[in-house]
Amino acid sequence: MAVLRDINTVDALVDRVFSYNPESDANLLRRAYAFSNEAHYKQKRKGGEPYIEHPLAVAAILCYMRMDTNSLAAGLLHDTIEDTDTTVEDIKELFGDDIAFLVESLTKLSRIEFKTSEEAQAENFRKMLLAMAEDMRVILIKFADRLHNMRTLEYLSPEKREKIARETLEIYAPLANRLGIGWLKSEFEDLSFKFIMPEMYEQLVHKVAKKKEEQEGYLDELIKIVEAHIKAASIPAKVFGRVKHYYGIFQKMQKQKIPFEQVYDVIALRIITDTPSNCYGILGLIHSLWTPVPGRFKDFIGAPKSNLYQSLHTTIIGPRGERVEFQIRTDEMNRIAEEGIAAHWKYKEGDYSEKVDEKYFTWLRELVKAQKETPDAKEFLEEIKGDISSGVVYVFTPEGDIVELPQDATPVDFAYSIHTMVGHQCIGAKVNSRIVPLRYQLQNGDTVEIVTSQGHVPSRDWLKFVQTQRAKSRIKQWLKIEERKKGLILGEELLEKALRRYNLSPSLAKSKEILEIAKSYRIQTYEDLCVAIGYGRISVHRIVRKLLPEPEKIEKEKVSVKKEVQRPEESKGIKIEGIDNIMFHRSKCCYPLPGERVTGFVTRGRGISIHTADCPTLETQTIDADRLVEVEWAGGDAATYSVKMQVLTEDKRGLLAELSAVLSINNVNINQLDASTTHEKQALFNFILDIKDKHHLDEITKKLSQINGVIEVKRVKA
Ligand code: MN
Repeated sequence: MAVLRDINTVDALVDRVFSYNPESDANLLRRAYAFSNEAHYKQKRKGGEPYIEHPLAVAAILCYMRMDTNSLAAGLLHDTIEDTDTTVEDIKELFGDDIAFLVESLTKLSRIEFKTSEEAQAENFRKMLLAMAEDMRVILIKFADRLHNMRTLEYLSPEKREKIARETLEIYAPLANRLGIGWLKSEFEDLSFKFIMPEMYEQLVHKVAKKKEEQEGYLDELIKIVEAHIKAASIPAKVFGRVKHYYGIFQKMQKQKIPFEQVYDVIALRIITDTPSNCYGILGLIHSLWTPVPGRFKDFIGAPKSNLYQSLHTTIIGPRGERVEFQIRTDEMNRIAEEGIAAHWKYKEGDYSEKVDEKYFTWLRELVKAQKETPDAKEFLEEIKGDISSGVVYVFTPEGDIVELPQDATPVDFAYSIHTMVGHQCIGAKVNSRIVPLRYQLQNGDTVEIVTSQGHVPSRDWLKFVQTQRAKSRIKQWLKIEERKKGLILGEELLEKALRRYNLSPSLAKSKEILEIAKSYRIQTYEDLCVAIGYGRISVHRIVRKLLPEPEKIEKEKVSVKKEVQRPEESKGIKIEGIDNIMFHRSKCCYPLPGERVTGFVTRGRGISIHTADCPTLETQTIDADRLVEVEWAGGDAATYSVKMQVLTEDKRGLLAELSAVLSINNVNINQLDASTTHEKQALFNFILDIKDKHHLDEITKKLSQINGVIEVKRVKA
């Protein structure tokens, strides 16, 4: 790309365009440049240089992508409507309908960019997709615009820099990847990385340079060996080293939780040959020279990625015991990997849509369809982020229709992609005629058949393995309705009981009076009131008491004061998947922890109390099955939770100090402690400790047990 930075005049641009497209209309480019220059002449870029440098740079990037002349002209003109007095009509008159359409579409896209909220970003993205569906060139010009802005981002304020860099990382880079434009994706990612995490970026730049230096000799040696063997086999090929881009390295470190030193494909060797069969030939050769690492061979030629990327990847143990990755592909595959969809616009002028590979558009059509079905822009953005950043599998319906799903998708995802009811009623699945579990991960080429049963309902467990946003939201929606039904039944019952207890007529439940009181809590209907009571969001006593005649009210208030709602201090930091806005608290008998199986119990007027699934309290209480609800920890918070622990030790001096030291080393806060000695010369310590989750607890239990003199460590649940 560096070579293009020397395009800083329109003459240089025209020269370059002619080098790949002699039929290009140079006059058109010169006119567009002159017009843009004139229109922007008063403006300066943030860095102080004349504004025209920006549209010229955008056109230069498009030129590098070998786009058609109209796109280049639109690149030169792209900011004129937005930033100057120019109108669409002006552009139409001077440059024709096609260019006017491109510039207008780009203007529409940039107009929504100024909003800041996440919602607006989602909306922005939606508009991008629609523009893309209309004419893919719009998005490619937008990419070029964003790329130049990213390259000159240092002139903006730190806040703006970060915001733009994030948007680039979250939306532009995955989109570029989805469209198969490898170099653009990498540059978007690296530039974003540089501005979002400057220190980490600098560190990696430094480390990669060092590694390159260290490995140079070694890799040269490998290249020579490979080249000699390829030559002996008379296969035409070039071998060279390629360095993984910085953000790619960073992602790998994050994903696999490894330090830089353990990322072994920082430098991979790439072999470019002429035909697919020679790719396999070279692969065989390499595998005969060195031992391949099991599970590392990937055949993206036989099964291309959804962005049409093709290549063979393999990792071998090299002569010095080091792992080395090889990527083997043809010239054509390499070109597609770098240029993706942009490869289709190369210099041929004329009608575009027909030349574009149908496969890109299948995906795009699906997206546009999906965005119509998901009215919530934010939800849609999440859906898209998931779908564009991960891999894809293609599977078949029994009728032979192809269905595209994200990697690791399951038969349940497949079922929901067919129809919501097929999803809800799905009880089993057959893949290639064999019965598989519902959590089976679909593979490319599988033929999937869903077995349904009328009256069957979705399970909360499905949320643990489904991959598509569609399946997730449908299941959650269903669970929400179910929870509401449960809340409603419970609330009705609680309300009726309360009325009876205060000697009020049950008919008051649906009376105007009670609705008036409900309205003061911003509840509008009888149903909503019952749900609120059932969920424990408001105290039934508080409502009913307001129905009492004055003197009794005072007296009863005394009786029921203990029943008053107390917002339990511990509910802070607890999230329960699938249920919103319900008041809940960890019960003080078993002190359940994240990571443990838990059950919820709907209390009277105190919301839901959470117990461990095996808590003795749940067994001793005469539990009303209607009041038990399925709950589950939602991950991702850093809170700690109290837990009762008992430690039995020998009665030895200094043991408490040792116990405390182990706890403090492991970041455990001691909330309460009492100690006593038994007559068997033993000491008993009762702690209340702040623990993160089940895993943390297990670790602490183990560490405490290892202390010399400790006899038993146990969790107390009652
Ligand atoms: Mn611009």
